[in-house]
Amino acid sequence: MSSNEDGKFFYGRRGSPTQWSLAEALTAMEPGAAGTMLYPSGVAAIACAMLAVLKPGDEVLMTDSSYDPSRSYADAFLKPMGITARYYDPLIGADISDIFTEKTKAILLESPGSLTFEVQDVPTICRAAKDAGIVTLLDNTWATSRFFPALEKGVDISIVAATKYIVGHSDVMMGAATTHAKYWTRLRRTAQQLGQVVSPDDAYLAARGLRTLEVRLKQHEQSALTIAHWLKDRPEVGLVLHPALPECPGHDIWKRDFKGSSGLFSFQLGQGDEKSRAAFIDALTLFGIGYSWGGFESLALPVDPEKYRTATQWTMEGALVRLHIGLEDPDDLIADLAKAFEHYNNVS
Ligand SMILES: *Cc1c(COP(=O)(O)O)cnc(C)c1O
Repeated sequence: MSSNEDGKFFYGRRGSPTQWSLAEALTAMEPGAAGTMLYPSGVAAIACAMLAVLKPGDEVLMTDSSYDPSRSYADAFLKPMGITARYYDPLIGADISDIFTEKTKAILLESPGSLTFEVQDVPTICRAAKDAGIVTLLDNTWATSRFFPALEKGVDISIVAATKYIVGHSDVMMGAATTHAKYWTRLRRTAQQLGQVVSPDDAYLAARGLRTLEVRLKQHEQSALTIAHWLKDRPEVGLVLHPALPECPGHDIWKRDFKGSSGLFSFQLGQGDEKSRAAFIDALTLFGIGYSWGGFESLALPVDPEKYRTATQWTMEGALVRLHIGLEDPDDLIADLAKAFEHYNNVS
């Protein structure tokens, strides 16, 4: 091993024992993994992992439920470099092989979608991809390896925005990509060539977060389920898009493949519009308004999936609200939501 290889203190950009121990822990949590690269954000992890496996002339298939910055990376950055993205229905399942072309070299999955929560048939899609020599990447931020051991399910590169549940305290941004032996060298080299590094202080905080991941996820799961079921019984609410609820598209696949559910889901205000939805959200006092979920605090966000779709259409009536259920007492959160519904009913 030359002094330029992993595992030796060589140069700050190559990390130090603090970052390596975090990477090792994330690798150990993912059965079948050879290694984990750390990045300064979830978006950096997605971008660098895709660059590691794509070159000009290639095509990547991306789920239509992709996290919006993943889409804009593909459309605004990869496209001018000669790498094209084609979007597919997240519920495509085995039919994905019908849309493969000679140029298809990678698939970016996200399951469930982080606004709309369709659960994808990851094992089936990965099997089809493998038969065709196509590499699969999964944005596994919602479940983490704890609830969805991605490599075991056939995924080649499993990515998380560690910013969310791994860090868990909304105070560090980080991304991680974990892969098996076949892609490990390529993933590592690309990250190093692109100068990806996280600070030891950030790695320390993420490692500290990891120590309570298990108990936090259990609490997020339990409180989110309590609140999802409570919402289900509210007259104002239509669909509750939570993978553990039967009405969520792909629920049966969630039941088959996942070991749990986390704290993020959406629900439909059946008769809502933009204005009444805003009134509802503004009336909440314990929920902040925010994008970056996965921390201790509860969040609410108005979401409009129709703005981001190209392969499928989002035709749901009413208005959609995404909630992240944090670690507060669920009874307090329910009381807050009940009060906001009162306000909502007065304005709509
Ligand atoms: C937040 C998020 C990301 C990006 O993570 P950052 O650390 O904010 O860059 C990627 N995918 C999903 C599903 C996310 O929720």
